[in-house]
Amino acid sequence: MRANVFHRPNEIRLEEVPRPQAGFGEAVIRITLTTICGTDLHIVRGEYPVKPGLVIGHEPVGVIQELGEGVTGYDVGDRVMTGAITPCGQCRACLSAQWAQCGHEHGYEALGGWRFGNTINGAQAEYLLVPNAQANLAKIPNELSDEQVVLLADIASTGFSGAESAKIKIGDTVVIFAQGPIGLCSTAGAKLLGAWLIIGVESDPVRMKMSKQMGANIVLDPKQCDVVAEVKRLTSGGADVAIEALGLQETFENCLRCLRPGGTLSSLGVYSGKLAVPYDAFAAGIGDYRIVTTLCPGGKERMRRLMSMVQSGRFDPTPLLTHRFSLEQIVEAYDLFGSRRDGVLKVAIKP
Ligand SMILES: [Zn+2]
Ligand SMILES: [Zn+2]
Repeated sequence: MRANVFHRPNEIRLEEVPRPQAGFGEAVIRITLTTICGTDLHIVRGEYPVKPGLVIGHEPVGVIQELGEGVTGYDVGDRVMTGAITPCGQCRACLSAQWAQCGHEHGYEALGGWRFGNTINGAQAEYLLVPNAQANLAKIPNELSDEQVVLLADIASTGFSGAESAKIKIGDTVVIFAQGPIGLCSTAGAKLLGAWLIIGVESDPVRMKMSKQMGANIVLDPKQCDVVAEVKRLTSGGADVAIEALGLQETFENCLRCLRPGGTLSSLGVYSGKLAVPYDAFAAGIGDYRIVTTLCPGGKERMRRLMSMVQSGRFDPTPLLTHRFSLEQIVEAYDLFGSRRDGVLKVAIKP
């Protein structure tokens, strides 16, 4: 089969690799649509290490090609998707409701639930082996197209979780730093959870416009204003919730500075190097602040819930799919996505 293989930093190639076969509890799906994540860019740039020879990508939509023994309630030919994170559903982490930190059957492991394109072959290929299929294959309702569900695997699940982990309440004020695909989904999540004022922070004009479309009341351009002062003014003293969706010291710190005492910083960013908490922004540790982090929730029940949101018309992720490529053009797709040219938000990749 054809697959996008990571060889070394800045070297990925579409090449021929063996097609996977389903063992006990596993399934093979024929990929009909996938996409590229910002995390894949970190891998390609050598900022997140994976082993050479790995097929990357973690956002699969497809059709069941083969079912291993022990997987029941599915048929070959069923349209399915899985989350980017594939919890086993049986380990200590999973049974403690920490599915994303699934421990490969023994205890806990940070990022352990993230397997596709991390610890096992991923979705940017013609076929994909799904581990723990019973816990992860989510059937796609007939009315939903591949394009309507592909972004639920990771960015919508992650973006919404940033809002959910913050425990946003009806009437809250929320500021979201960065309106890339995940930040945009956090904006949509904050709206669904009942925030009255949603402030996006973004300077790219395409993303600023999309931020309004996803539910922001106001979008502040950090190149044009003092965001912290402006948020404090708009919220009469500080936001209830600040969501960090970029992964930089500056935005993390500004999130903290935008909060009212007792407010919640919900961090989705993936940081590199050192991350510091300035004592003044943190009221020396006694400002009743809450800092929470979340890795993309996965599993078939999470996917079913997200698909229900799309099916009912309460959330539409399709405006975020701005460009379309075949699997054969994937290196070109990476180049466009990585350079953020041409107003790109997410690219659809069709094998
Ligand atoms: Zn991702
Ligand atoms: Zn587990």
